[in-house]
This record gives sequence, C-alpha cells and structure tokens, in this order.
Amino acid sequence: MAYEFYEILEVSREASPEEIKKAYRKKAMEVHPDRHGGDKEKELLFKEVNEAYATLSDPQKRAQYDRFGSNDMGGGFGGGQWGFHTNMDFSDIFESFFGWGGGFQWGGTRRKSGGIEGEDIEIRVRLDFADALSGLKKTVSYTRKVLCTTCEGSGAKKGTEPKECTQCRWAGQVRRRTQTIFGVMEQMGICDVCRGTGKIITDTCASCRGERRESLKTEKEIDIPAGIDDGMTIKVRGEGNDGIGSTPGDLYITFNIPDSIDGLRREDTNLYYILEIDPVEAILGIKKTLKLPVLGDRSIDIKTGTQHDEVLRFKWDGVKHISKDQKGDLFITIHIKIPTHLSKKERELYHAIAEEKNIEVSDGGFLSKIF
Ligand SMILES: [Zn+2]
Ligand SMILES: [Zn+2]
Repeated sequence: MAYEFYEILEVSREASPEEIKKAYRKKAMEVHPDRHGGDKEKELLFKEVNEAYATLSDPQKRAQYDRFGSNDMGGGFGGGQWGFHTNMDFSDIFESFFGWGGGFQWGGTRRKSGGIEGEDIEIRVRLDFADALSGLKKTVSYTRKVLCTTCEGSGAKKGTEPKECTQCRWAGQVRRRTQTIFGVMEQMGICDVCRGTGKIITDTCASCRGERRESLKTEKEIDIPAGIDDGMTIKVRGEGNDGIGSTPGDLYITFNIPDSIDGLRREDTNLYYILEIDPVEAILGIKKTLKLPVLGDRSIDIKTGTQHDEVLRFKWDGVKHISKDQKGDLFITIHIKIPTHLSKKERELYHAIAEEKNIEVSDGGFLSKIF
C-alpha cells in the first residue's frame, strides 16, 4: 500500500491532527504558486498538498484513506485542465502568516459563473532600516494586467460577436464524472475548449490579440505601518490583475529590510547595540551621552565596577509592534576595550597600580614597542 498523502505532507502515519495542520501550513507556504510567480510545477505541488490535507484533516476521509491506501478519492490531481476545488477556508490556515491586513486568499485563477477572477500579484520592496521603524507612505511600481481598452475585455474585434462554446454552451464549466471507491463522483471543472469563458471568439481584437487584458505599469501609494519587519507582507485588496467579468486579484507586497545600521541591530521589536568603553570608565563609572544611529541621543549611566558584557536595558525604547500598541526594548551591551596605546604618563600610572597590587608585570610585548 502506498501512503502518498503522508509523504506529500512529510508526516508519519501516526501524526496527530495538529501535526498534520502544522505540516500543511509549512508545505503550502513553501509551494504556494503566488510565491513562485505562477510556476506550473509549484502549482501542481500546491494542489497535491491541498488534496493531501483535505483528506488527512478529515477524520472520516483519513480513516478511509488509511484503509484503502489509495489517493483515488475522486478526481485526482493530475489533470491540469481541471480547476482546483475545495471548501476549505484558507484564511483560517494562513492567518498566522499574514497576521494583519486580512486573511490569505487562494490566488491564481479563480473562476465563478463564467468570469475569471484576477490573479494575485506578489512584489518585493526594499525599505531602509529607519523607515521600517517609523513607517511611511511609499509609492510602489509594478505591472498589472488590466482589461484591454480597445475591446473592453471582450477579446473580440470591434463589431464582431463571440460564438457559443460547443462543449459547455456558454457555461464555462463542464461536469466530469469519475469512478472512485465510493462510487461515481461528479465534479465541476473548467471547460478547456473556451478556457472557462463559455464563448469562442472568431475575430480577435488586434490590440490584445484576444487575451482580453494588457499589461499596464502601475504606481500605487502604500501606507506602511511603523514596525514593519523583513519578510513581512502587506496585502492590498483588489490591486492585483483585473479579472475578466469578475473581481480583481490582490497585491501582496513583501518587504526586504536590513537588520542593522551602523552597529544598531534589530531583532523583532528589540534593538541591540554594543558600546565599547575604556577600563577606567568601567572601574570608576561615568555618565555619558551616547549618539545612537536612528534613535539619537541616549544618556547612559555606567556604574562603578561595570563588567564586560554587562547589559543596560532601556524599556520601551525599541521598535513599535506592527499591530499591537506596544514597543520592544533597547539593549546596550558594554564591551570593555583594553587600550593598546598608552601615553608615558598612563604607563607610569598603570605601573603604580601594579605595584600597589603587588603584581609583577612583564612589561614586555606590545607596550614596550610604543615608546
Ligand atoms: Zn482587446
Ligand atoms: Zn466552453
């Protein structure tokens, strides 16, 4: 017996529902076609992953599957011309990845009664470290498909009429019957003759060559919230490709943001900085004003007897959380830097300390070379 569904999700046959859900999320994100620019192979993998999850997440179907050990559960997932059907709610699954700005929607070509929904578009945008902290309005440019202005999306030459599709008779969909272990199952699929439009165009529009849409360079101003982090994605509803007789897809903007600037390093909402001080400052203590990149001046109080690697914590001085009303902290780690160059006077004073502490110094090595 083969257990492909378990292999597809890379879980054991004994996996708990929670483990299956987790594995599915991981796999689905990995192979999601929107993340691979509509890669056909990834699209197929994505269908397989969904098919596997649809069965393994349903206790009854899973029990059947375990018993029969077959993936022939109706329809299969090999046929490219058949639309992908599921009643699963993807927003529930993907919410945690796009924790704000709405749930995730199944991208690609979505079809309803004759119309073709627009595809989602994913773009990547680079942001500065400082801009990510403060948030900003930014104009992004990308290319989207819009309805052809010449034929207004009909695909037909002006003055000509499309004809009825002989296979589906205007429906755009055809019923497909499949023999399965549960008996004959019926499934609706997209008509491959008219590609789901229900009509056949004989005289095509010269402008779009019957494609019904054309590419348009688009600029869009985006409100980027403070606290946006590297790899996060903003969804802009309806700004993907135009649909044909249906709703447009969405625009997904994923941000590339450097994780540090001039020694100030960011990790989620916390900021980290390493401050080098002189041993004398650590021994005797000092109050000083530190000029931090982006954040500006911070007064710090280095206590007498501060140790190497000691961390000063500035509560709420980090990065604003993207969706919650809270901030991370700023951590300044103290590094004590041993001087490698001493003045004659300094050297004498260190010798005096050595004498006071009864330390027999070698006084060789690098220090002697200085004078
Ligand atoms: Zn046209
Ligand atoms: Zn048809």
